[in-house]
Amino acid sequence: MTQETITRNFLDTPSFWREYPERDIEFVRWYPCDVGPLSPEQVYARQEKFPRTTSFYVHIPFCNQVCTSCPYNKFNTRNTLVQRYIKALKAEIDLYSKSPYLRDVVFTSGYFGGGTPTTLRAEELDDLLGFMKQRLNFSDDCSVTIESTPVDVDQQKLDVLLKHGVSRMSLGVQTFHDPILRYLGRARAHTGESATRTIELIARSGLENLCIDYMIGMPGQTHDLWAQDIRTLMDLPVTSFSVYNYAVLPGSEVFFALQSGATPPCPSTREADEMYQYLHTTLMDAGYLALTYNDFLEPMRPEWEAEGATTYPVLLDGSKPYRGMETDTFRLTDHLSQVWGRCGDMVAIGSGAYGYLNNHMYLNQPDINAYIDTCNSGRLPVVMGAYTDEHEQRCRSLVLGLKLLRVKRSVYRERHGVDPYEYFKDKVDSLVEKGLLVVTDEALQVTYPKGWYYIDNICKTFYSDRNYRLPQPTSASTEILNWQLDRTDGRKGLPIVQS
Ligand code: SF4
Repeated sequence: MTQETITRNFLDTPSFWREYPERDIEFVRWYPCDVGPLSPEQVYARQEKFPRTTSFYVHIPFCNQVCTSCPYNKFNTRNTLVQRYIKALKAEIDLYSKSPYLRDVVFTSGYFGGGTPTTLRAEELDDLLGFMKQRLNFSDDCSVTIESTPVDVDQQKLDVLLKHGVSRMSLGVQTFHDPILRYLGRARAHTGESATRTIELIARSGLENLCIDYMIGMPGQTHDLWAQDIRTLMDLPVTSFSVYNYAVLPGSEVFFALQSGATPPCPSTREADEMYQYLHTTLMDAGYLALTYNDFLEPMRPEWEAEGATTYPVLLDGSKPYRGMETDTFRLTDHLSQVWGRCGDMVAIGSGAYGYLNNHMYLNQPDINAYIDTCNSGRLPVVMGAYTDEHEQRCRSLVLGLKLLRVKRSVYRERHGVDPYEYFKDKVDSLVEKGLLVVTDEALQVTYPKGWYYIDNICKTFYSDRNYRLPQPTSASTEILNWQLDRTDGRKGLPIVQS
């Protein structure tokens, strides 16, 4: 087994940024990257925006079973921190409820991520959600997502979530194959059978939108097993579906198990690509709707259409009937639309959470004890971030907007006062020349399948000069606090990987 097979992603980390025809491997999730120390006072020094709506992200950094190759900011729930953390969350929420910036602002969507938010007990979820609804102004149809594993949710918790209007659950299934779950260290937590039982329980509860997460690139995963997982997905009462790349962290249990041959190797990059292609064609042949290259919705329902949801053709030449959902026309995808499509405000709540307010991208204190102390002292825990001026906002709308595969020119013009094609003509023309983007009167649209394959390269084309070749910082550890502080020449470049 080659080293490349073992740590396909992480050995590549010095080369976050590649250039076409090399494919970038870093998943774009936020922008900008050029962050530095930032205080709450700096965020609100001058009110530039007068938002009417916002979303929220709440980080719950606890898991009942910590997986062997997990890069996220999390602790075991047995830790006595849980109670202190919830108290701090409430203090932070209280501060936002009194913020002049958010006065009269309506929360239209939100997301509880982690960690595993449903590791909180039913009473704790009830307390936290009830407190949020009491302090913050939620719209009647506010769409709220919560992440869970198949074993951290039961009827009692579902009742609490439904009572507070949670409409979507993102369930980390990863695969239905027990041997692979064992290689991931997940089998101590769930099996394919327990995942199926939980999915059926959630479907019976009446929760509107159940999303399951799969992973590609796991030890022992083969094309045949992947095809079985896709068939299983299509037979289950699942509304939407996301797939992520599995990455082996150097030094993790999985890393050593792979190195010693105790677990079978991960699929090669080529095999993983074939799994993506199989996923795309199988789902879209069956009428599933693309949200991004790795998120799909089940085929259009009459009630969604009646509510005004609309779709667009994935292939402009009409050679296949593949469709994508216009996320801004659909209530259940409002969070994606708010955060990536509209680049709207998002209030970050919790240790290590990141958000966007008053034209500032910001990160909360990732050290959980420091976070708790800060909130309890009556101060917002903002520690890092970056201001986005008009140019950065225009860049951001394409970096994040194209994650949704399509940016409408009229909407962009309305928001930024310029046409995206005219403003970024050279960059757009070069992407069109490479066959990655098409420009129509209506939109800039990522091509299928080639553009989907290069989606992160496409998004990064619109990074500003300040952000060019910078990797995205991660708030998963306190390392972020040292991010770029040692810069001497004003920027930290990264090497280009030559093909
Ligand atoms: S459940 Fe998710 S967040 Fe928790 S340890 Fe496993 S991968 Fe990490």
